[in-house]
Amino acid sequence: MLQLSRRTWLEILAEAWRSYPHEACGVLVADAAIDSEIVRFEPIVNAAESSRFFTLDPAEYLNAERRADDERLAVVGVVHSHTHTAAYPSPTDVEEASKPLVPPTWHWAIVSLASGVPELRSFRVKPGDGDTMTAAGMAEELVVLRER
Ligand SMILES: [Zn+2]
Repeated sequence: MLQLSRRTWLEILAEAWRSYPHEACGVLVADAAIDSEIVRFEPIVNAAESSRFFTLDPAEYLNAERRADDERLAVVGVVHSHTHTAAYPSPTDVEEASKPLVPPTWHWAIVSLASGVPELRSFRVKPGDGDTMTAAGMAEELVVLRER
């Protein structure tokens, strides 16, 4: 499960539109022990400058990780946008998420701008309780929006 505030959801959405037509990306920060309760979203430059895939800018990513460390928090997932496809992992996403250096516990949240109504879904490599495996090969988890 992924829990985030409505405010965080709006910040993700704003970043997705700001980056359009390129894919937006960023990280999810939380207490590592309660990694489903997202504390904040940090936008990160898409170094790939692409509408089809994303690369977290390495320097910005490192800074985000250091800031989280300083607050005894951790990067627990990644968010990116799909500009022309639904909010399901692409073959590239599944490949990236399965790389040895990427923590298998990471949340992979995807916001889609493909239809009139923005859509948010989240996935993990390793399914947790209640998660459903998708055709793409990742487990979809429940997304809950908190009031704050
Ligand atoms: Zn993607």
